[in-house]
Amino acid sequence: MAPPDSPPVIAIVGAGFSGTLLASQLLRHSRQPLRLLLIDRSGRFGTGLAYGTADPAHLLNVSAGAMSAWADDPSHLLRWIDLNREALADLLPSGADASSFVPRQLYGLYLQSVLGDAECLARGEISLQRISDELVDLEPLPPDPAAPVARARHRLHLKGQPPIEAHHVVLAWGNSAIPPPPEPGPGVRHGWTAQATADLDPEASVALLGTGLTMVDMVVSLHRQGHRGPIVALSRRGHRPNAHRSVPPLGDWIDADRAPATVLGLWRLIRARADQAAREGHDWRAVIDGLRPRTQALWQRLDAGERRRFLRHAAVVWDVHRHRIAPELKALLEQLEASGQLRHLAARLLANDDAPQGSGRLLRIRRRGQASTEVLRVDRLILCTGIPLAYGSSEEPLLVRLQERGLLSPDPLDLGSRCDAHGALLDAVGAVQPGLHTLGSPRKGQLWESIAVPELRLQARDLAQRLLASLPRQLQGLPPFEAVPARAPVMPSLLLRQLFDADTNAYTYLIADAKSGDAALVDPVLEQLDRDLNLLQELNLQLRFCLETRLHTDHITGAGQLRRRTGCLLLVPAAPGIRNADRLLTGGERLELGSLSIEVIATPGHTPEHVAYRIGDSHLFSGDALLIRGCGRTDIADGDAGQLYDSLQRLLALPETMLVFPSHDDSGRSHSSIGEERRHNPKLAGRNREDFVRLMNQESLAPPEWLREALPANRHLGDLQPSDPYDQERRQLAIASRQAQATEEANKEIYNAFLGMFI
Ligand SMILES: Cc1cc2nc3c(=O)[nH]c(=O)nc-3n(C[C@H](O)[C@H](O)[C@H](O)COP(=O)(O)OP(=O)(O)OC[C@H]3O[C@@H](n4cnc5c(N)ncnc54)[C@H](O)[C@@H]3O)c2cc1C
Repeated sequence: MAPPDSPPVIAIVGAGFSGTLLASQLLRHSRQPLRLLLIDRSGRFGTGLAYGTADPAHLLNVSAGAMSAWADDPSHLLRWIDLNREALADLLPSGADASSFVPRQLYGLYLQSVLGDAECLARGEISLQRISDELVDLEPLPPDPAAPVARARHRLHLKGQPPIEAHHVVLAWGNSAIPPPPEPGPGVRHGWTAQATADLDPEASVALLGTGLTMVDMVVSLHRQGHRGPIVALSRRGHRPNAHRSVPPLGDWIDADRAPATVLGLWRLIRARADQAAREGHDWRAVIDGLRPRTQALWQRLDAGERRRFLRHAAVVWDVHRHRIAPELKALLEQLEASGQLRHLAARLLANDDAPQGSGRLLRIRRRGQASTEVLRVDRLILCTGIPLAYGSSEEPLLVRLQERGLLSPDPLDLGSRCDAHGALLDAVGAVQPGLHTLGSPRKGQLWESIAVPELRLQARDLAQRLLASLPRQLQGLPPFEAVPARAPVMPSLLLRQLFDADTNAYTYLIADAKSGDAALVDPVLEQLDRDLNLLQELNLQLRFCLETRLHTDHITGAGQLRRRTGCLLLVPAAPGIRNADRLLTGGERLELGSLSIEVIATPGHTPEHVAYRIGDSHLFSGDALLIRGCGRTDIADGDAGQLYDSLQRLLALPETMLVFPSHDDSGRSHSSIGEERRHNPKLAGRNREDFVRLMNQESLAPPEWLREALPANRHLGDLQPSDPYDQERRQLAIASRQAQATEEANKEIYNAFLGMFI
């Protein structure tokens, strides 16, 4: 085992949505050294079973607007799509927006990008190792006697490499704990595999067993590959998938605490509400969708007997109403049915034998409601039945082994595993297994609604919080007395460069963690792109992100171009109309740059979205809120003097010795300190809010030179130049006139100084 003071290790088994999101949450939020191991036997990280399909015709079953990976940032996926529209052109439906059902392949790329971003923004001492291998056994170990605090430990046995040890193990194996058996026989394929519809004569007859979402995938794939032969879809009750329709859910129509605790009671209630909704002109989907936030609570009110009753009698009907498909896929199914190529049969499969001559299958079936049987001859049978979660009855060696070791105990309904309210695994007598957790489908027996993104992203967030809270405390020794800083605290790893654009008087700041080489640029200027890229290269720094303090009115940002050239992320304050940002900031966030932590402080007033950036107690990048002996104007861009006063008060309450780096200074000063500004800032010293507002409202200033060009271009982060071409001539004239003015003023100063010497 690693030395006792080495970072805690969290191993996540499974890199589908659940494992990927859990890893991303841990990377994003850990404040202490951590080693993450993300293990997946497929060798793919971020796709899992659902989003690993290579067929672009396989669409999400939920529209893009509800599929953000981050529960607290619902438009994240849409912004990512917007940002990558060009690169994703072949996968995106035209005019894709929040209501579009985008290809699952695209969603897999999104999850990979989420993980990559979280990895690159994580603090320097947090590492992520992707391991392409299969967990075959898990062995509990006694706590390490040398460790200062007793911690659970497990040894993970992998198929292809020596065992590894971890303090926490998360079984994020979702839908895939029980893999499909290797090859079900000639002429039979699994719907989950890429081989399902491969090597098929276009005229061949195909039977699909099951009429759920996998059946839809198969029909869509067959159609895309130009299949002309007959397709028959078999299911016991002959249900067909329903399509989504854009209807707002009917919220709050059921009180989970008072709802019936029986399947029949719930059934009647839902029916009655759906009938009432129909009379009121609502769609039944609104009733089902209104249940979604309460489904887990309703399920948990049912006792074991009622849950079994539900599984036996109601689950199939529930599934076809709850799990719906994109309207365009439904239209395709209807079109194929109308043409006679696709048939649905309500029938039970009794036997499935090799056809006597050549390949193909003989399927003995009994139609619903009939006593006699019949035989169907098909060239291929594709199994599209549900995902098995029966851990108790499974012969999968890993599941058997874990149960023998007492680490995993099947859920009483044999629907996943027993676990506590937070996903900690429970043994057969209900005791928590220290250091073992799960999320997603394995919790289906406990929660029922535990398989789709809206639930999984919350589970990943909550589990990450619990895991981080359980890690050993990080304590630091007090420095020797002499080392206690008397002035601004020193940050040994902070590398800071102040850069200046003479044309617009704008300061850009390069902030970097000298240890890791991770860098950020605050308020880059478009015209200084080469300067900034050269400096990054000379100092051997990797640009991780660009930060803006506001939507600039005086220059066009270089952020968009920097992203194109370096792949950095753009983190910008949430102003209306901002397009293509990687993350919108509103204040309160902490951004990790190697070992540096940058805090975002909301400072509205100069503009509504304005933020400042703070590093510890030593550096404040105050943008246009607090300037040296002044403050930003409030008469343009929706400024508000009262708000600015409040923001400035918050900034002036920061530590006295903190250095202040503003966005501009007309007098050639580079920086100031909070203490200095408290005492000497004429806009603030001795003024109350009312005086300040009066003073600001009296100001009469010319509009910024580049307002007309800058605002629209900056809404696109400098990626999109304004439709009105950037007026180079006007810019050159303004620069020349500003230079002439500066020369005149300098001459005046020299002249006065000269006279002063002789008078
Ligand atoms: C076809 C399909 C379409 C879907 N569409 C949507 C949709 O549009 N919207 C939505 O919200 N939900 C959808 N879902 C639900 C889906 O289940 C979840 O969104 C989510 O993908 C589940 O991810 P997961 O990581 O929990 O599980 P999985 O995706 O099953 O990932 C588990 C991973 O664990 C790995 N693994 C398993 N055992 C081991 C082992 N022993 N060692 C190493 N690795 C292992 C597997 O290789 C796999 O990559 C869909 C599901 C399917 C099957």
